Amino acid sequence: MPGVTGGMVFPSTAALSKSIRARASEIGFDAVGIAPVEPSAHAEVYRHWIDSGHAGEMAYLAREDAVAKRGDPQLVVPGARSAVVLAKNYYPQSEEAHAQPDPSQGMFARYARNEDYHEILKARLVALQEWINAELVPIQGRAYVDTGPVLERELALRAGLGWFGKNTMLIQPQRGSYYFLGVILLDVELEYDAGFERDHCGSCTRCLDGCPTGALLGRDAAGAPVMDARRCISYLTIEARGPISRALRPLISNRIYGCDICQEVCPHNNPRFVQITTEEAFWPRQGVHGAKLVELMGMDQGEFSRRFKNSPVKRAKRRGLLRNVAVALGNWGSPEAVPVLSASLSDHEPLIRGHAAWALGRIGTPEALQALRSRRLVEEDTWVRQEIELALGAAGVT
Ligand code: SF4
Ligand code: SF4
Repeated sequence: MPGVTGGMVFPSTAALSKSIRARASEIGFDAVGIAPVEPSAHAEVYRHWIDSGHAGEMAYLAREDAVAKRGDPQLVVPGARSAVVLAKNYYPQSEEAHAQPDPSQGMFARYARNEDYHEILKARLVALQEWINAELVPIQGRAYVDTGPVLERELALRAGLGWFGKNTMLIQPQRGSYYFLGVILLDVELEYDAGFERDHCGSCTRCLDGCPTGALLGRDAAGAPVMDARRCISYLTIEARGPISRALRPLISNRIYGCDICQEVCPHNNPRFVQITTEEAFWPRQGVHGAKLVELMGMDQGEFSRRFKNSPVKRAKRRGLLRNVAVALGNWGSPEAVPVLSASLSDHEPLIRGHAAWALGRIGTPEALQALRSRRLVEEDTWVRQEIELALGAAGVT
């Protein structure tokens, strides 16, 4: 039924919801679901995940106010009644975008091969919110794309978009999981979708078996998928600010920014039927996926800023990305990498010097070992010295 406030006639919840869905589609979203705002059903699971240390260094997830807000969207937007959840496909269209780079090249997670989705999607969510306010009904609300204290995947599940796979991703039937999710919390009542009830993973364990670092731990007693982020390549190469554990470095291969393995092996992402994005803004840009590792390792700050302007990759900063590139070069193990790694032993960032030392130790040619010996004479950072000693020790040099 239409509502009347202050002499103005507003559309019914059904008409309002229909208009919002239609407008979301016009703005370029591929799927939309609407859920009532309620306290999270996974708040305890989330708290337990934090308490178990599985969030690693991601302190922003563990902050008490952030944990509380994730448990109750009302703390984020007081008076919020509805969550409009929007999905945007980013599965690239071209064959070359899916090519597996050889070990001399860097591999980037698919979502990071494009422009920064935060900016693009946030602008669209805000446009949708402003349109609702101007054209339909006065509202208060807030839009989030992966950055606010909102459990997007749980809201998407409750809005009927899909289920939590054992790989922790939200999977949409017939669509898969290569989707960005955005949420607008609004203070109006809308017509709600039925929550997604079924778990289509069944007895499949492909993602658990395929994860190279053993980060996926299956489902907990409540059925929620559990990941130890400290072992996940996406965490290690993007969120972690310090050294990557020596035991995990060889398992990272040439994945220098994120990892898609647990999505690639998922039968619900079968390339035969998964949808591709038709929007140019989500197509891969040049100089990212498949870039030569040697070239990336030689980047100074200016080149890093130019190459990754408006890219999600800038989140890792130069020091984080070059740490990852050094690991990938060590895994490649080619003498071709020795000159650039030797030069990196003089980088002003100890994080880069230490990982370059590890990589040179893995390569182990006389030139690589000579570079390590020379640096040992002048290196002042305790951790980097340790890495040099371990690299030389592993090669049998004292
Ligand atoms: S992103 Fe990669 S490392 Fe992380 S859980 Fe998935 S397969 Fe494992
Ligand atoms: S690979 Fe299998 S278990 Fe993992 S998310 Fe996909 S369907 Fe579920």
